[in-house]
Amino acid sequence: VIVTIGCARTERGIEAGFWFEPVSYESRRLGAPVSPAEMARIESVARSELARAFTGLDITVADNRRARYSVAVVQDLSDPRFIRNVQIAGESRAVDGFGGAGSVSFAFLAGGAMVYTPEPATRAELIDAIGRGVGRAAVHEFTHQLLPNTDIHATKDAQSYEYGSATRVEQYAGEIRWDLAGPLLRERIGPIRQ
Ligand SMILES: [Zn+2]
Repeated sequence: VIVTIGCARTERGIEAGFWFEPVSYESRRLGAPVSPAEMARIESVARSELARAFTGLDITVADNRRARYSVAVVQDLSDPRFIRNVQIAGESRAVDGFGGAGSVSFAFLAGGAMVYTPEPATRAELIDAIGRGVGRAAVHEFTHQLLPNTDIHATKDAQSYEYGSATRVEQYAGEIRWDLAGPLLRERIGPIRQ
């Protein structure tokens, strides 16, 4: 007798596409524009933020623009709900269980890293703060896509991935953790199959 345990809402082997469009940033605090080597460092820091966030979940982050779930790092993003130019950190569209697509704003997050990294900081520390900001914003957008019917912004924990604002120190520095979406993701996606 074969017993099948139905678990309709479980998804396995999720591929999360993550890549950088051509982006640039310079500012008074940073000085000279981000160099190609620094951009590579930012990407590496961002990817390690994603890997840490999704540890224990069956999600593979890859540079695949056709992945069912995706986040692109773009130069900037404005909120389509406003006629005037309102810059935002990220956005996503998703259909529950089918997939999603989103993007995060390099200019917004690099600017945030300049504002929220305490003085004094070396240029290398500012570059790493940009990487953390971008990576944590990407985790947040993937979470919207994976749980489109959950109001992840309901969290009150500013030190969580779910928190609905990138204008905070925790976006760029120190530790960050899962709040309400953590158990939902574990239930829905589950651990990596051995
Ligand atoms: Zn959000």
